[in-house]
Amino acid sequence: MTPSPKPPQPTPTQSMADPKNLIVILGGSYGGISTAHYLLKHVTPHLPSHKVILASTSSEALCRPACPRALLSDDYFPQTKLFVDIAAQFAHYPPEIFEFVHGTATDLDAALHTVTISLADTTAAATVTLTYHALIIATGALAVSPLLGLNSDDAPALRAAWAAFRARLPSAKHIVIAGGGPSGVEVAGEIGEHLNGVRSWWWPGAKQAAYPRVAITLVADSPTVLPQLRPVLGRAAQGYLARVGVDVVCGTRVVASAPAADGGWDVKLSRGDTLHADEYIPCVGTAANTSFVREGDKARLLAADGRVRTDPGTLRTEVKGVYAVGDVSDFARPAIHNVLAAVPVLCANVRRDLVRLQGGNDGGDRLFVEEKREMQLVPVGWSKGVGAMMGFRVPSVVVWLIKGRDYWLWTTGGLWSGRQWAKA
Ligand SMILES: Cc1cc2nc3c(=O)[nH]c(=O)nc-3n(C[C@H](O)[C@H](O)[C@H](O)COP(=O)(O)OP(=O)(O)OC[C@H]3O[C@@H](n4cnc5c(N)ncnc54)[C@H](O)[C@@H]3O)c2cc1C
Repeated sequence: MTPSPKPPQPTPTQSMADPKNLIVILGGSYGGISTAHYLLKHVTPHLPSHKVILASTSSEALCRPACPRALLSDDYFPQTKLFVDIAAQFAHYPPEIFEFVHGTATDLDAALHTVTISLADTTAAATVTLTYHALIIATGALAVSPLLGLNSDDAPALRAAWAAFRARLPSAKHIVIAGGGPSGVEVAGEIGEHLNGVRSWWWPGAKQAAYPRVAITLVADSPTVLPQLRPVLGRAAQGYLARVGVDVVCGTRVVASAPAADGGWDVKLSRGDTLHADEYIPCVGTAANTSFVREGDKARLLAADGRVRTDPGTLRTEVKGVYAVGDVSDFARPAIHNVLAAVPVLCANVRRDLVRLQGGNDGGDRLFVEEKREMQLVPVGWSKGVGAMMGFRVPSVVVWLIKGRDYWLWTTGGLWSGRQWAKA
């Protein structure tokens, strides 16, 4: 694994003194990268006085859904496709219309229309403050487990977390995973198949008795796992989990977890008992990355759960010139298909607002409508899976074909490079 080359850093004066009007995007992942490409292809050509700046804590984009398998070994995915250098994906746009800033947004002054970025490379300056005409917040959400995303750090931190986990695995005898949603089921299925292989019901005797090599417990507070799917699919997933040595405990939740004296974890369940685990992986809940929102702006910018309160149709926030998309926003359920469906709508409305700022008229708003039918594909191990698309149950082999083979890695090339957004 070779680290990606560092992207060229803009100097603060370059950006601050830029004669162009800035469209600033925060977050370099599904929401931010897609929005940047879309604006550069379909909006800024009509608004030549504008320039797009994409600022991101991570200099690399990650196929996040692949984490449940990728965390176990670098051999499961080509690493150069799993992590992709963001700046390189935008190298074909001239610097007059696009800049990538490797840094973290630390302060948003909604009154002055400025956002301050703390730069990753502090050799030139520690921060840069950008005055925006439009600001798109796409900073995503932090997973509780450091194994499941870029969290608030850069890609090397995620790789280091994976390496430390892999080093501990050979001595693990019991692994507890919390959360019966898709992440918990996928993590449990991948770890089960990686460590235990598939249980053979036709092989009596010692081999069967010694199975599973490592005890894995998945704790879910719902009656079956995958509560967003019909119960029969949850039960099917539980059958596939048993096949790879995962014991599912439903109807109870993890109420507390604490490091144990032996270096493992004590995981307390709501039903009253405490499980001792060598590894504990919480796959429950996320926290929106919005720490740059000022205390005084929280009431109008943030919802009660900490996500950016966003008009679900227009993707605007209550604050003029500020928009949000992706997991940081409450516009829809956190899922990539929602992000991708929202990007063209968001960009059309940004364009409309910028044209209006210049005294023109670009027609009415475009509106996003969330797909609310049953929609979730969940691989369980290397060859099985359950799911539904647009309300229709999908056979296991189709789940494998679409997602289980490589956890969507087949889709990210066009997304990161912008090819996916060639047509408006
Ligand atoms: C294990 C797992 C499996 C998943 N599987 C699927 C799936 O199969 N299908 C599906 O549809 N969805 C899936 N999801 C959800 C999907 O990954 C998210 O919907 C998607 O990643 C959201 O993209 P995003 O751009 O909003 O944010 P994120 O992908 O969370 O990225 C946020 C980006 O913002 C950057 N950032 C954070 N804070 C700041 C800051 N202050 N300033 C600048 N940059 C910042 C981060 O470095 C990161 O690059 C899965 C999620 C997980 C955790």
